[in-house]
Amino acid sequence: MNKLDAERQKEIQQAEELLFAGPQALGFAKGLFQGHFVSDWVMPYPRIPAAQQTELDDTLSELRKFLDEHLDPAEIDRQADIPRSVIDGLGRVGVLGMTAPKDYGGRGFSQMANCKVLEEIGRRCASTSVFVNAHHSIGIRALLLFGTHEQKQRWLPKLSSGEQLGSFALTEKEAGSDAANVQMQARPSEDGSHFILNGEKRYITNAAIAHELTVMARTPVPGSDKTAITAFLVTPDMPGFEMLEARMPKMGIRGTATGRFALRDVKVPKENILGPPGKGLKVALTVLDFGRTTFGACCTGAAKTCLELAVQHANTRKQFNKTLGNFELVKKKIARIAADAYAMESMTTVTASFIDRGLEDYMLETAMLKVFTTERLWECINDVFQIHGGAAYMTDLPLERMMRDARINQIGEGANEVLTSFIALVGMRGPGMEFKEIYDTMMKPSRERMSKAWAAGKSRLGATIRVPDVPVQSEQLRGHARQLGHLIRRFNFAVNRALITYREPILDMQLVQERIANAAMDLFASTCVLSRLDGEIQFARRNGETASPNHSAAHLFLRQSFRRIRGFLAGLTDNDDKAVITAANGCLAR
Ligand SMILES: Cc1cc2nc3c(=O)[nH]c(=O)nc-3n(C[C@H](O)[C@H](O)[C@H](O)COP(=O)(O)OP(=O)(O)OC[C@H]3O[C@@H](n4cnc5c(N)ncnc54)[C@H](O)[C@@H]3O)c2cc1C
Repeated sequence: MNKLDAERQKEIQQAEELLFAGPQALGFAKGLFQGHFVSDWVMPYPRIPAAQQTELDDTLSELRKFLDEHLDPAEIDRQADIPRSVIDGLGRVGVLGMTAPKDYGGRGFSQMANCKVLEEIGRRCASTSVFVNAHHSIGIRALLLFGTHEQKQRWLPKLSSGEQLGSFALTEKEAGSDAANVQMQARPSEDGSHFILNGEKRYITNAAIAHELTVMARTPVPGSDKTAITAFLVTPDMPGFEMLEARMPKMGIRGTATGRFALRDVKVPKENILGPPGKGLKVALTVLDFGRTTFGACCTGAAKTCLELAVQHANTRKQFNKTLGNFELVKKKIARIAADAYAMESMTTVTASFIDRGLEDYMLETAMLKVFTTERLWECINDVFQIHGGAAYMTDLPLERMMRDARINQIGEGANEVLTSFIALVGMRGPGMEFKEIYDTMMKPSRERMSKAWAAGKSRLGATIRVPDVPVQSEQLRGHARQLGHLIRRFNFAVNRALITYREPILDMQLVQERIANAAMDLFASTCVLSRLDGEIQFARRNGETASPNHSAAHLFLRQSFRRIRGFLAGLTDNDDKAVITAANGCLAR
């Protein structure tokens, strides 16, 4: 085995240990890659229970009132700071401990309800929504999920009220997209009472204003010469904590404090370890599942603002003696924003419900939600910007700020390229393992292998023949449901073909992976839209109401999404991949 192969095997083994240790439940997205429609994950469309809905409605009206009176996004952007009075106000409304248990001073809200809160903030000010995300979705998440009772009792009450703030510190110079490459060291003290941390972190939201930071550092694995990542709770008052840059000057979400800090021989008591020692990467990935879910909510809010601004301008601005809304190329943009905003909300709600239901494994769905909503939001902003023409370019309107703010979304919490590849590879692992079973048996037949290979062959063949049932209640959605079922079958066929054609080299073929991941994301998005539309039609029917105007946008989304899926699948055999690689290599070699 040459050095590259050995490194590849090591990477595969690490990924297997990290992502696939323990029993593997067939979630919705993994099901898609197997040609299944795991309907009980996504249907019926999740609803917030009535009692919780009342509490949420009260909270939202209190929040709206506070934000109307006290939140000035343009001023936050100009001053590159979120005033403490705004943070305190958010704390009073309960936003900063929304999902923390009531016993620890939180509001005990579900993720679905929390997403509605984040959507409301994301509608108005991206700096503020990113600040809340950094504190609540990821900053205190490891404590909420993995903290002991003592740790929670000690830290959570002040963090839930907003008296203290949290931050999540993973990124370093050499550990950006390659998060596993954390270099910060944590050496155990001789008496074992504490760890000594050394290293630097950069691009950390809230670092300079946080009282508690979840810091990822590398610890020795006892009994071996290896190291593994462990999560530590660090406070800035620990001797050796040095803030190198409290507010790195930046293009967008300027109100957030993005910092760079060093730890120099910082002694962190062993009681401050969060989660199992050596399992920090798993802790980080789990935390990011939550961050990506609320990311979806914030993007949904911003997309709704795009729609409002687009409609308002198209209905008032006149050119050629007509308001802009009369022109089809403007209508096209408005319809697309409406369709995408509907889909983003539906996907966010469904994904949040997976967390609330305690389903086992939703890392693919949270990654899909993050990539899909951030890419769609960027398009929405581009569209509303275009509708506003030159006015959008001027700083008295919020559009240039929204555009600056939205650009981080495709980079932060996992660059979209990295997540796209992750979605394809993790999704394809299930069918890939089945093919491997068949292949290994053909190469080295044995009685024991034969029965496993037979089961794998049956599963692969069955998925190729069978059109999965997509169960909807509403007669008028049966056509969409049938189309979705057929597309899932075609998707599964395409995945099988890609695996058989490319075998192991597919691990490096990101252009193929991208089409597979894009098709999977649109299948998930369409499913969420169909589920919600079905729920809303049934609800309206039960209450003798007529269809909402939103529904035409939902229908449009399904048509456009199905067309995109067909395009992605067709691109697997009809593409310019070789020419793309050759042209890029030519440039890179210069
Ligand atoms: C404003 C802001 C706030 C942030 N807040 C936090 C925070 O609170 N906590 C925290 O820990 N981190 C935070 N980050 C860091 C953020 O998560 C990283 O910037 C992100 O993970 C990307 O890492 P990087 O910047 O080092 O880019 P790199 O890893 O250098 O990647 C650069 C680009 O290369 C491409 N690329 C990289 N790898 C691959 C690949 N495998 N395949 C294809 N393309 C690839 C992608 O297009 C990517 O955008 C923040 C960053 C910013 C800018």
